[in-house]
Amino acid sequence: QARENRSNPLFFSHYDQAPILERYALLTRLRQALDDHSLDIFLQPKVELETGLLAGFEALVRWPQADGSYIRPDQFIPIAEHGGLIGELDLQVLDKTLQTIQLLQEQGIHTPVAFNASPLDLFEPSHFETMLRMISDSGINPTLLELEVTESRAMEEYDMISERLQQLMDMGVGVSIDDFGTGYSSLGHITHLAASTLKIDRSFVFRMEESTDAVHVVDMILRLSRRFSFKVVAEGVETDTQRKLLLELGCSIGQGYLFSPPLPVNDAVDWALHHSS
Ligand code: C2E
Ligand code: CA
Ligand code: CA
Repeated sequence: QARENRSNPLFFSHYDQAPILERYALLTRLRQALDDHSLDIFLQPKVELETGLLAGFEALVRWPQADGSYIRPDQFIPIAEHGGLIGELDLQVLDKTLQTIQLLQEQGIHTPVAFNASPLDLFEPSHFETMLRMISDSGINPTLLELEVTESRAMEEYDMISERLQQLMDMGVGVSIDDFGTGYSSLGHITHLAASTLKIDRSFVFRMEESTDAVHVVDMILRLSRRFSFKVVAEGVETDTQRKLLLELGCSIGQGYLFSPPLPVNDAVDWALHHSS
């Protein structure tokens, strides 16, 4: 009898099976959401730490549910990546982002909006070409668009990705390295990153108040960024103490709950109108 026999590959206990089925069900529903174009974006402001004024937006995907709630991306981005849906998802978000830039322009708000690209996207030549075509077809000023990508092991290994990021920058599109300081990004690598901006990961910002080590890491990232002319955005700023510390260290732009959570587009427009000079 297979019961309780975990070494039998044909046996899945209920416990083992549930997450797999759940993931499969999510993937099926996500496939449907993409077919229906029903994913939404929220916008989170990036602000000048000194004045609190708007410095840009980041578009973050949201998956609306029948009951009016939203599933957060951490719960489905990894599933989309493993299930082969991330490229399509990211293109739909790019499309929404381009439309939103248009809408902001119509409201007189001329601020850059960033979208997130999975590193997997940049490996896929047809995906990259579709991205370029969508950007040029939209007719928006490319300097109002920014791409955020986490530095992955892949990027250290393949010059191709740097070339693509450089190509975007040559068009005028901003390139931000997301979650900088974690994972595969090494400080030595900073000298030849094809990027205009580094986003300091929120785990460092979070620890700054308790740990002088975290302060030193942030300080070092900021010094290197100045040396190599990168703009810097601090993620996850939640307290005024963090804001002041960052300012003292020479960081001028931040993003986080202290200023605003990600907002539905209409609310973000209102926010922008109240936080522009
Ligand atoms: P991320 O790019 O690092 O985005 C920032 C995340 O931090 C967002 O979570 C945001 O809501 C959250 N956040 C903002 N301010 C604060 C703060 O002050 N404190 C804390 N604790 N958190 C804060 P969200 O929207 O759940 O997104 C999670 C991740 O999902 C993103 O991390 C990004 O890596 C990924 N993601 C989101 N949208 C997309 C997308 O369209 N495509 C891809 N490929 N990935 C996406
Ligand atoms: Ca991001
Ligand atoms: Ca981040």
